[in-house]
Amino acid sequence: MGTIKISVLLFVVLCGVSRAQTPQTNKQIVIAASTILDGKGGVLHNTRIVVEGSKIVRIDPNAAPVNYDLRGLTVLPGWIDSHVHITWSFGPDGKNAGAGGTTPYATYAAAANAWATLLAGFTTVQSVGSPSDLPLRDAIARGALPGPRILSSAEPLLGRGDQTGTPDEIRAFVRKQKEAGADLIKIFAAGSVRRPAMLLSQEQLNAACDEAKKLGLRTLVHAYKDAVRAAVLAGCTEIEHGPLATDDDLKLMVQKGVWLDPQAGLVMENYLLNKDKFSGTPGYPEEVFPAIKEMIPAYHTFFKQALKIPGLKIVFGSDALAGSHGRNAEEFIDRVRDGGADPMGAMVSANSLAAEALGMSNQIGSIAPGLEADIIALDGDPIKDITAVRRVVFVMKGGIVYKNSH
Ligand SMILES: [Zn+2]
Repeated sequence: MGTIKISVLLFVVLCGVSRAQTPQTNKQIVIAASTILDGKGGVLHNTRIVVEGSKIVRIDPNAAPVNYDLRGLTVLPGWIDSHVHITWSFGPDGKNAGAGGTTPYATYAAAANAWATLLAGFTTVQSVGSPSDLPLRDAIARGALPGPRILSSAEPLLGRGDQTGTPDEIRAFVRKQKEAGADLIKIFAAGSVRRPAMLLSQEQLNAACDEAKKLGLRTLVHAYKDAVRAAVLAGCTEIEHGPLATDDDLKLMVQKGVWLDPQAGLVMENYLLNKDKFSGTPGYPEEVFPAIKEMIPAYHTFFKQALKIPGLKIVFGSDALAGSHGRNAEEFIDRVRDGGADPMGAMVSANSLAAEALGMSNQIGSIAPGLEADIIALDGDPIKDITAVRRVVFVMKGGIVYKNSH
């Protein structure tokens, strides 16, 4: 008993010390704004946001003194990118080095990706597919490195037909990711638009998504064509990509409350822009690049198809990888310009809707009292000119200002 009491006391003392050392104080910070997009589709005019510690405490037009005058800019909640590969980088030879690097070079490159992503206005990202995410996630969460809040899948479940394993083996794999610290489970259930065949059977998908659900983890499923319906029937949480799904498949997603994260361009544009760096590296033979270019219209068509399905919940995910970290917002431009998305809808898809998909609506995604002070400002109005998303001039995450350059 004595030992228990002492350790409880020690815990209290240590927590008290660590709290005193954090940079967050209860000093009030007041941000003046002429236009605020609240993250849910609403607009506030000529008011002030009051921040204490890491949180927004109230909206008050009379709060004073003003610490940051963001009038003339568009203020909104920090964006949430639901699909990135934060550690995926180019290596010292300039070539695609993938997402699993553990060298000092790869580690610094991953930290640089995080910093670039934060400066681009993304205060939360969901990184789907590498255990290398975990130490970066934890370093940022501790305040040791600047970067977006990261949720990670650890190792993804790569569908390989029967070789993937029996349903029981798949369940064990899912549990292993949870033990490794995964916030969600990423599943590759199909190949690509060019080879959309299913890589997991219905039974295997059922096992993966059911086991994750039992552990309280969401499931993000890379799927095309038939794999979309199979993942929905398996009770998975969110479909990544999705082309070649039918209207009926998408309507079933609405019925089952499954999220869709389609891409409208950035990921493929980035491959073409950095062709020399990808070409000849694993998965990127020279001859794939003309096909990638030809694929872009199919993604635009699918995006437009998805927008027409009433009630379908479409979240923002850029699939940022080497070459596109910090350029995640280009995907907004693609969605609005080429995919036919309404600009306000595009903003909400990366704010309150994305927060809802993460199960974090009570923490992020809106400008409202009680939420984390993740606040960005754009030089321009993205509702009138979507390219304003390229001009992020102010970034606050959890009450700490990382950029103020207007
Ligand atoms: Zn991806």
